[in-house]
Amino acid sequence: MQVNQFLGFGFESNVYLLSDTKTALIDTGTGLYMGDLLASLEREIDIGDIEYIILTHEHFDHCGGVKTLKELSNARVCMHEYGAPVVEQGLEWSAGFFNARQPRADVEMKLKEGDVLDLGDVSLHIIHTPGHSPGSICIYEPESKSLFSGDTVFAHGDVGRTDFFGGDVEALIHSVEKLARMDVENLYPGHGEYVLGEGSAHIARARRYLSPP
Ligand SMILES: [Zn+2]
Repeated sequence: MQVNQFLGFGFESNVYLLSDTKTALIDTGTGLYMGDLLASLEREIDIGDIEYIILTHEHFDHCGGVKTLKELSNARVCMHEYGAPVVEQGLEWSAGFFNARQPRADVEMKLKEGDVLDLGDVSLHIIHTPGHSPGSICIYEPESKSLFSGDTVFAHGDVGRTDFFGGDVEALIHSVEKLARMDVENLYPGHGEYVLGEGSAHIARARRYLSPP
């Protein structure tokens, strides 16, 4: 599986392109700078080849671009069942931070813990990690031990904020403890730089930060 990161600037989320036999996109950014994202994506792939658009959670900076990308690609949109109504009904409150509105888009695959998406030679395992938001997921690819962690955990032990609507610090602690029990080499968070080779050490730091000895 090949991973391309399109680093989000400002408040934009990172977007990841996962290429194997099939192609998946993880997160879409706000969609307010879609021209830039499309130009970057088209250097790597034909947009029509995207099979899945997987949203790590129901915040506008991650899913605002989903409608446009879905229409251009015909991809199936996948996100946790708790976040799906927010996108389907266009109710995402944090769009207001950007003076925008969440465009409505159908979510074809409403995910839950333990679901697996097939990319060809590799598979993506869905881990429900609420805390930053009710519908937050992480996506694990066991072959390369890669974790796409959305806004649950970031490089260097940073964690997602819990003071937004639906945030829950106890749930976040539980979620990060769950991730800390996994074998993660490569950590691809929803914002900022990614980590190759020592992902679990960065997650362990997040766990210590949330639960000091
Ligand atoms: Zn978020």
